[in-house]
Amino acid sequence: MRYYLIILVVVASVCSGTAADFSWQAGVAQTKITPEGAYWMGGYASRTKPSEGTDLDLRAKALALQDASGDRVVFITLDLLVVTPEISQAVLEGAKARYGLTPANVLLNCSHTHCGPELRLYRETLHNIPKGLAIKMGEYVKWLNNRLIDLIGQSLKNLQPARLAASSDKVGFAINRRENRGEELVKRAEEGKLKGPVDHQVPVLRVANVRDKTMAILFGYACHNTIMSFFKTSGDYAGYAQKFVEQKNKGAVAMFVMGAGGDQNPYPRRKQEHLALHGRALAEAVDRALKGRQTPVRSLLKTARQDATLKFQPAPDQASLEKQLTDKNKYMRWKARLLLGRINAGIRPASSDNLPVQAVRLGNEILLVAVGGEVVVDYALRFKKEFGNQKGLKPMLWFAGYSNDVSFYLPSLRVLKEGGYEGGGHMMYTQFTGPFQEDVEQRTFAAIRKVVEQVSIMHEDK
Ligand SMILES: [Zn+2]
Repeated sequence: MRYYLIILVVVASVCSGTAADFSWQAGVAQTKITPEGAYWMGGYASRTKPSEGTDLDLRAKALALQDASGDRVVFITLDLLVVTPEISQAVLEGAKARYGLTPANVLLNCSHTHCGPELRLYRETLHNIPKGLAIKMGEYVKWLNNRLIDLIGQSLKNLQPARLAASSDKVGFAINRRENRGEELVKRAEEGKLKGPVDHQVPVLRVANVRDKTMAILFGYACHNTIMSFFKTSGDYAGYAQKFVEQKNKGAVAMFVMGAGGDQNPYPRRKQEHLALHGRALAEAVDRALKGRQTPVRSLLKTARQDATLKFQPAPDQASLEKQLTDKNKYMRWKARLLLGRINAGIRPASSDNLPVQAVRLGNEILLVAVGGEVVVDYALRFKKEFGNQKGLKPMLWFAGYSNDVSFYLPSLRVLKEGGYEGGGHMMYTQFTGPFQEDVEQRTFAAIRKVVEQVSIMHEDK
């Protein structure tokens, strides 16, 4: 009789999938990263003075996961505008030296809040940042790098048996900002006739300990954190969403993963009350996901990373740049000054740049792809269309933008051809000349295909 019972238990646990699979290990850590005192803010080139006080503190959070065979990944989410290549490099080097993690094992994602510190050191020249505040920016970046390396260590130190579950829901406050503007936007929103592609999915990963207490909730959304343009520090709607999720799930760390929100804005916006309004709406979507169907994630982790080399259209020559020094647009003048200064120092404008592309597979249940840049929504929609079915398996597809290096917008071919700010106009506010060449989407998807293949669900389990 006893044998039958054992067989029954074994059969039951196989049938219920990995419901009791505690062969994952998970560890979380978080820290406040609001700069001390007044600082130069990023987000809007038009800023003319330093920060003034705090609406909501900025936080950095880390979730370390280790599967049954000891493979690891650490997700780091940041209430920050960008991840620069310099920050990424410093953190990855530290993670390699101190914890043996490779770039494929570490994912840095930022919420793109526009109410936090400027982190791009070249902006001192580009945007005339006062010297004292530029020095402070450099010091903050160094401090941040070390803080993030320590944070990874803390999350690894906190590893304990855990189980993972995938779920998802939707929320609709992101609108396509290229297709809906001004009064037209208000009218269409009232009539429920907004135009243009959006991605309203809210993917959720719940991490629980052996007592089923929630340790971490990772959730995503594809929308700019641009509700406010004031001079207060704030994590914007994503900061509020994380706060509300943590209030609802005591003791859990809530982590926001920015999706392909390059051409998406929250609506309505620009009033302080919208911060909590959209934060609440997103937190409620997370709550609905957590109350809905939970798909247990089996303990199997695979990661891969590959850079896509993206080419810029030919840069203006020296004579054109010198002419731009007297342009009536001050941003044009400042950009010409930056590039000419570099040319005089023997540095030609870059003809290409590398875009980080990373895949994280969690069991057969989640396939996450994380791409650098301010990725427009077309990428997420194409990713979901192309990779929705993996030999009969249907993992939850999770597209993260704003990961590992956020130096420019990443337009699709459609957006590049249409032009406008995300298509190439934004390059004036970066250190690159741009716009990209027309194979930008093709090159990015070639890298996406490679990393998905490397972690492929089609491969035999290890
Ligand atoms: Zn942006």
